[in-house]
Amino acid sequence: SNYRAGYDATVIDRLKKAGALLVGRANCDEFAMGSSTEYSSYHPTYNPWDTSRVPGGSGGGSAAAVAAGLVPFALGTETGGSVRQPAAFCGIVGSKPTYDLVSRNGVIAYGSSLDQVGINTRTVKDNAIVLSAIAGHDAKDATSQPVGQKDYTASLTGKIKPGLKIGVVDNALYADGMDGEVLAAIETAIEEYKKLGATIEHIKIPSFDYSAAVYFIISRAEAASNLARFDGVRYGVRSKQANTLNDLYCNSRREGFGAQVQRRILIGNYVLSAGHSAEFYGNACKVRHLMQRELLTIFNSVDLLLLPVSAAPAFKLGAFAESPLQMDLQDYFTSPANLTGTPAIALPCGFTKANLPIGFQLMGPHLSEELLFQTAHAYEQVTPWHTKHPQL
Ligand code: GLN
Repeated sequence: SNYRAGYDATVIDRLKKAGALLVGRANCDEFAMGSSTEYSSYHPTYNPWDTSRVPGGSGGGSAAAVAAGLVPFALGTETGGSVRQPAAFCGIVGSKPTYDLVSRNGVIAYGSSLDQVGINTRTVKDNAIVLSAIAGHDAKDATSQPVGQKDYTASLTGKIKPGLKIGVVDNALYADGMDGEVLAAIETAIEEYKKLGATIEHIKIPSFDYSAAVYFIISRAEAASNLARFDGVRYGVRSKQANTLNDLYCNSRREGFGAQVQRRILIGNYVLSAGHSAEFYGNACKVRHLMQRELLTIFNSVDLLLLPVSAAPAFKLGAFAESPLQMDLQDYFTSPANLTGTPAIALPCGFTKANLPIGFQLMGPHLSEELLFQTAHAYEQVTPWHTKHPQL
């Protein structure tokens, strides 16, 4: 809490240079860990469609601000779905670009092999405009793609690519626990794509069934390592109750980190520990590799994938208070894109009877942002969902 960055991240720098007016910082779960914005070190954020419900997380503040019309766009970071899941819960567009397309210079690290900056907007075109301003190589991020900046709105023709093949991930869409209204809305979106001329293929990606478990282990392991730097010496809270250096480390971390973050550091260190790293971290890395390979093969036969963002619409505040591990299942459909480094975009596709937004997502091969935006935009032009806004 109350941290003020000492310098601008590259994304902020580029937005300012492009003329954007940056009005503030949005609420989020502490260290971007969570799916509801209830683990913020300030206060929860409410869903503008129903203030008894969460806006999703970790970037709930960004999504709520865009959905409520406070701002036309807001950034978030994506380690396992923190832009797309809030987008689906708030009825807006949320993109997660290819792993290394947007510079992470100045972005606080959570899971370094997964982290990427994402964008919330009300429309696909706005999303493409913001990506055009922030994407492209940055010498200050050694992992950033050697690609230049480009205009991602150029592919928005209102039509889909001729011959487009979309693979519907059946083991995700028909997974146990899918809400009936969410499923029906996504099936209608699939029909819409058929009308637009796309060929739909129903496929299965078996490794996706393990995504939440693999993500759970890898993200905690990397978080435990990344957060080691918050030791009370150079970053974050410094405990006043310390006589020795060791007390300073321990007390600063105990006082400074919230319960959710402490839980993750403990789990992360456990899955990396000498006796357990082969069983947990090692196996998770192997399954991640299988996911990457399966996906590469699948993109030989289809252009894009279509799958849910979340099995259910926004849940009530406190719904997972007694079972925080259950909340981690929120990452089931979103984490495959982070684990494989591929881009994905969440789009609104309807509402439940209780007037809660429903979303779905498109995923593509590495650096397929133009095709993703084109395909998302074509759908948006023939559907009304992006024009619906909450009554405030
Ligand atoms: N729900 C995920 C988590 O808590 C999302 C994190 C993210 O993308 N920052 O790890």
